[in-house]
Amino acid sequence: MADTALMSIPGQVDPVPVARSITPRADGRIDLLGLPKARIAELFAQAGLDAKQAKLRSKQVYHWLYHRGATDFGAMTDIAKTMQPWLAERFVVGRPNIVEAQHSSDGTRKWLLQTDDGHDYEMVFIPDADRGTLCVSSQVGCTLNCTFCHTGTMRLVRNLTPGEIVGQVMLARDALGEWPKGRMDISEVEDETEYRADGRLLTNIVMMGMGEPLYNFDHVRDALQLVMDGDGLALSKRRITLSTSGVVPMMARCGEEIGVNLAVSLHAVTKEVRDEIVPINRKYGIDELLRACSDYPGASNARRITFEYVMLKDKNDSDQDAHELVRLLKRYDLPAKVNLIPFNPWPGAPYECSTPERIRSFSNIVFEAGISAPVRTPRGRDIDAACGQLRTSAEKKSRAERDREATASAS
Ligand code: SAH
Ligand code: SF4
Repeated sequence: MADTALMSIPGQVDPVPVARSITPRADGRIDLLGLPKARIAELFAQAGLDAKQAKLRSKQVYHWLYHRGATDFGAMTDIAKTMQPWLAERFVVGRPNIVEAQHSSDGTRKWLLQTDDGHDYEMVFIPDADRGTLCVSSQVGCTLNCTFCHTGTMRLVRNLTPGEIVGQVMLARDALGEWPKGRMDISEVEDETEYRADGRLLTNIVMMGMGEPLYNFDHVRDALQLVMDGDGLALSKRRITLSTSGVVPMMARCGEEIGVNLAVSLHAVTKEVRDEIVPINRKYGIDELLRACSDYPGASNARRITFEYVMLKDKNDSDQDAHELVRLLKRYDLPAKVNLIPFNPWPGAPYECSTPERIRSFSNIVFEAGISAPVRTPRGRDIDAACGQLRTSAEKKSRAERDREATASAS
C-alpha cells in the first residue's frame, strides 16, 4: 500500500492526500520510476556505493530508464555484469498497472490504469495523420466540479506521483513499440514546420486527462521535466500542452518552471455563466484569469495560448457570446487561438451539445475577427475516451454496486 502524506495546495483550503514519491514495495525494493537523476544517485549512495560510483551508475541507469525504456537492469549493457544483480536486488523499474485497454473505431486508444494502492485512472492516445497525442492524467478524480465534466463528478482521490504521471508516457511508448534503439536528440530550435516525427506515433502530450494539473504542480513539473530532458524521454516542450481550468496563482510558475504551452478552459464569457459551469471562477474571475494569461511567460504569436470553449446548447453558444469572446481576447491583447469543443455527453449530464449550425456560426464570428477557432472533432466517444468523459470504471462500478445494494435493501 502506498503511504500517503498531506500536501497543501495554494488556493485550496483542504490539504490533498498524495502518495509519497518513494515507497518501498512489499519485497523491500524501491521503484525508480519517476525519480530524477540526483535522487537516484542518493539512493545508490544510501545503498552503499561510494559517491563517484553512485553518480556514474545513476547517469547510466537514468539513460536506460527514461531514454531507452528499459525495465530490466540486465538489459543495461554498459553496466558491469556484477553490478546488474546488485541493482536488481535493491531496485525495480515499474510501470503503472494496466487494468484494461480499449480501442475505439476511430483509432483512439484508452487505458484504464491502477496505482499500487488500488486507485484507477485513465490515459488516452489519439492518433492523427501527422501526429499522435497522448492525453495524460494528473490526479485521480478532481476537486473542481465543472458541471459539464464527468471527471468533475468524481471526488478527488489523490494526486498522482511523478512516477504515475511519467509512467503513462512510458507505458504508451511500450504499447506503441517506440523506444529509440540508440540516442535520440531534440533540437531546441525545433518548430512545427521542421519537426520530423520520424514515423513516430507519439509526438505530442496534453495534460488534459483526469484532474487539474496546477493543483498537483510539483509532481506534474517533476514528471514533465523527465519527459522534456534530452537524455530522458526527449520530447520538446513545444509539443506539450498543459490545460488548466484557471488556477491563477500557479500560472506564472507553470510558465517559468515547466515552460510548456498553455491551454485555458475558459468556456464562458460572463461571470454569471462561468461561475456556474466552471466554479473555480468564483475564486479567480475572468479578468484575473486573462491578465495571468497575458503575463504567461513564453506566450507569443508563435506560441499562442489555447482557449478551450465547450459548446453547450443555449448556455454559452450565442453569437453575442462569440462577440464577447473576441472582445475579451482583444482587450487583453492575447496571442490566442480558440478551440471549440463540441460537448461530449455522459450518462446523466445536464447539457446538450450545441447544434452544428450554432457551432459554425460561433466559429465564424471568432474567425472573422482574425482569431483561429477550429472545431475539435470528437475522438473516442464510443469508448468514453473523449474530453470530459473520463471517469474511472471502478468508481462507476462501485456506484452501480451501491445502487444495486440500495435497491436490494429497499425491496
Ligand atoms: N482540468 C483541466 C484539464 C482536464 S479537462 C482543465 O479543466 O482544463 C480537458 C478539457 O476538456 C477541458 O477544457 C475541459 O473543460 C474539457 N471538457 C470537460 N468535460 C467536457 C465534456 N463533457 N465535453 C467536452 N469537453 C469537456
Ligand atoms: Fe476538473 Fe478539468 Fe473536469 Fe473541471 S474540466 S472538473 S477542472 S478535470
